[in-house]
Amino acid sequence: MSMKIALVGIGKIARDQHVPSLAASSEWELAATVSRHGGVDGVEAFDDLQSLLDARPDIGVVSLCLPPVPRFDYAAAALKAGRHVMLEKPPGATLAECHALEAMARETGVSIYATWHSREAAQVGKAKAWLSDKRLHSLAVTWKEDVRRWHPGQEWIWQAGGLGVFDPGINALSIVTEILPDPVHLTAATLEFPENRDTPIAASLTFKHPHGADMSAIFDWRQEGDQTWTIDVETDAGSLTLTDGGARLSINGAIQAETDEDGSPLQGEYPRLYARMAALVRSGEIDMDLAPMTHVADAFLLGRRVTVEPFDD
Ligand code: NAP
Repeated sequence: MSMKIALVGIGKIARDQHVPSLAASSEWELAATVSRHGGVDGVEAFDDLQSLLDARPDIGVVSLCLPPVPRFDYAAAALKAGRHVMLEKPPGATLAECHALEAMARETGVSIYATWHSREAAQVGKAKAWLSDKRLHSLAVTWKEDVRRWHPGQEWIWQAGGLGVFDPGINALSIVTEILPDPVHLTAATLEFPENRDTPIAASLTFKHPHGADMSAIFDWRQEGDQTWTIDVETDAGSLTLTDGGARLSINGAIQAETDEDGSPLQGEYPRLYARMAALVRSGEIDMDLAPMTHVADAFLLGRRVTVEPFDD
């Protein structure tokens, strides 16, 4: 039987990914929305979360598609009302609030899921499996995209807590922390802030790897033309390259087939996230991995700040 779910924050990612993924799943029924501006055709619409929680005790799961700063209060209200909660990435605006949400979920006995959609990209699992028994020599992340193309008119990304270029950069870090068998930590960072903005437009990061591998990441939002979401890895058994944000993989120059180990066609990122959420709810588990966000927080703690020219949409 399908589970009833409510979507909160009907913006770009809700419309592009959450609504179609739920519609295509037999495990879920989109039973209501919470939106200050609109909703989804044919679905009961509420304009505030508390009204939904009061009116629809039959909806057991709430999926939050808001930007990070307002998300905590919504998540806390849903957990307090005994609902399972799914969080868009990043799971919050600060690490402390994410820890608080996890503690609330444990106390109430409900599931909470900090989703990292890029971990569900087609070839991430295969990259992880290949790297599991290799000795790492180097890893370089290059995540360069055009902010005007992907975030037109989104003011929150430039406001404190909006992460700036770490909004896409955290996707790269979610893949790195998934595919590497060993934990790493940040040792240096340079963050470039436009003089008229609260968040960085570019960043370069250096990490320490326990076996001494060179590890770095470059994020840049000023890339016009071709867009780059690449992770290059060198090991004692050759090289691995993930491109297109984890959708494509080559190992020692050989492009890998775009099928699962069992030969079935690959599902998309968001259908996989919702399948995982359904499994967590059924088993009563919590998945709140904060590793990608820890590296971002460390970059803000440790990073050298450089002021660059103003940026306007
Ligand atoms: P968005 O379209 O700018 O905003 C999403 C919705 O959140 C808005 O339409 C609004 O919903 C609600 N909202 C915005 N500010 C709010 C506030 N202060 N208080 C309450 N509600 C507020 O953002 P988005 O691109 O969908 O991104 C949302 C989250 O998804 C972010 O954390 C982002 O990192 C993540 N994400 C985005 C993408 C992408 O391609 N855009 C991809 C993956 C993940 P209502 O108008 O319905 O109230």
